[in-house]
This record gives sequence, structure tokens and C-alpha cells, in this order.
Amino acid sequence: SLAGVAKTYAARGKQGEVTALQPVDLDIRRGEIFALLGPNGAGKTTLISIICGIVTPSAGTITVDGHDALADYKQARRRIGLVPQELSTDAFESVLATVTFSRRLFGRSGHSAYIEQLLRDLALWDKRHARIMELSGGMKRRVLIAKALAHEPEILFLDEPSAGVDVALRRDMWKLVLSLRERGVTIILTTHYIEEAEEMADRVGVIAKGKLLLVDEKAALMKKLGKRELDLALVEPLAAVPAELAEWKPTLEHDGHTLRYVFDATGERTGIPSFLRRVQELGIAFKDLETSKSSLEDIFVDLVGEKQ
Ligand code: ADP
Ligand code: MG
Repeated sequence: SLAGVAKTYAARGKQGEVTALQPVDLDIRRGEIFALLGPNGAGKTTLISIICGIVTPSAGTITVDGHDALADYKQARRRIGLVPQELSTDAFESVLATVTFSRRLFGRSGHSAYIEQLLRDLALWDKRHARIMELSGGMKRRVLIAKALAHEPEILFLDEPSAGVDVALRRDMWKLVLSLRERGVTIILTTHYIEEAEEMADRVGVIAKGKLLLVDEKAALMKKLGKRELDLALVEPLAAVPAELAEWKPTLEHDGHTLRYVFDATGERTGIPSFLRRVQELGIAFKDLETSKSSLEDIFVDLVGEKQ
């Protein structure tokens, strides 16, 4: 639970201050997936870094189960796992050593069965003896997730888990996150992809320019977003839109390279997650997905009726 949490940084190389976060009141519910959705520079990393105890807020209070978290973050950190946005690439240690170390850091025993299962779930088991610096970007991202989960946290924070990640890894991460929720882990993630918030979250907070504009149940929020276009960049051109996509047909356009889905969230039409699942079931491969409102600016206009 956050009350009046705000942050100003000293301006970089200049005099004065930067307001990264205006006062935020927010309650995260146990066991939910909460997505913080907003463009770059919105204050997402600042906000989750404060909740994780990495950054000290300039004002406000944070309580966990009624206890003042700011007073004793040592205790709180044991319950928290964080997958940071930035990848550090200077790790000489092996995957297994790194993940085991992260577990012991929080006073948990080696417990090799847990670590083995974790690395298998993340498709890292075969790479367990590889040095992290030798791995691909996607594999490094998986290692960061394994490190964050090594001590079996109750709350997992993921800062922009899909930024710079290919579609396959994004899908794997979504599955993993949903299975963690099944096990009762509370998840807080940040993203600038609406699809990601729509696919995964129970509730969404929209943030821009350091202001938490709106917090709502996902379904209610998606309705407010209105009409959007989703473009799938196809690996191989389609001769025609398959008949199996009839349910979506009036709203599909196809030009040989891109399959465009015009999605009207205010109506009763099936949402983007079910559309994407159907496309994948049909074996239609795509390289990436992007909404036409990817700047997010239009969305803020839709939501709050003002330009950011
Ligand atoms: P996001 O994660 O949504 O992209 P951030 O929380 O990283 O946003 O940044 C929010 C604002 O705070 C930006 O204007 C950024 O330049 C500023 N900021 C972030 N970290 C620092 C820092 N350590 N010092 C000064 N300004 C910062
Ligand atoms: Mg960030």
C-alpha cells in the first residue's frame, strides 16, 4: 500500500530538480498481476524501484500488511524479487553459480531441486555451466528472471520484461508469469505495450509524466481505450486471410506482409489475446506485433482527454 509516494531527483548536470513522480496512492492486492503501463520517461522504473526499496522516495509512506516497509527494507527484500530493465553483461560466473548465489544471499539453502526446476522452466538447464557473458540477449534475460526467483519471493517485479525481446521469449515469459500467479506470487510489471498489459494483467495503472493517471480492472480499462489497430509483421506472406479467422474477418486487413486487426474495444468483439492465440494455433508466424497507437499519446488523449 502506497500513500503520497513521490520522487524528485537532482537534475543531471544541471541545477535544480526533476520531478520523476508526483504523489501516488496505490494499493497492490495480494496475488494479483498489476501492470504499470506508460511511455518512456513516465516514471515506471522510479516507482517500482521505490516499492522495491532501491530508491528512497522524497515523500510518502509504504506499508506491507500494515508494517512500515521503509523502516525495515532488509526484511521486505527477502519477500521481493526484481527483474531489472537493464541487463548487466559483465558476469563471468556460470548460470548455475549465479542463480545459486542469489538464493543463498537471502539465507535460503542451496536446495538444488528448486534451482534445477527453475532453470528447466526457463530453458536454461542445458546452459547452466555457461558463463553469463557468453549467452545471447534472450538467455541473459532468462538468467535475470531466474536470479529474481531464486529465493522464492512472494512478490515479483518485472521492469519492462518485453523490451528488446523476441516474440517467442515474450510468450514464454507471459506463460511463466501466469503460472507464478497460479502459485500465489504477486506480480508487478511495467510495460509500454498495451498488448502485454491486456494479455497478462488483472489490473492496470496508466502512468505518464510522473503522474499515475488511472488505475482500473483490465477489462474496464481496455474498453476505455476504444478502437485500436494491431499489426502483425508476418514471416511469410499469406495468400489470403484464412477462413478460420472468420470471427475476426470484418476487421482484418492483409497486404502480404502485415496482418492488421482493427480492434474495437468498446464493442463486444473478441479481444487481442484470443485473436493472437488463434493466429498462433493456425501456425501463422509473425516477427513482431505493434499497435498503431504505439506512441501511447492517443491513448492518453482517449483516457484523460488531454495531451501529455
Ligand atoms: P520510465 O521507467 O517510465 O521510462 P523513469 O522512472 O526511468 O521512467 O524516469 C522518470 C523520469 O525521471 C525521467 O524524466 C528520467 O529522466 C528521470 N530520472 C530517472 N532516474 C533519474 C536519476 N537517477 N537522476 C535524475 N533523473 C532521473
Ligand atoms: Mg524504465
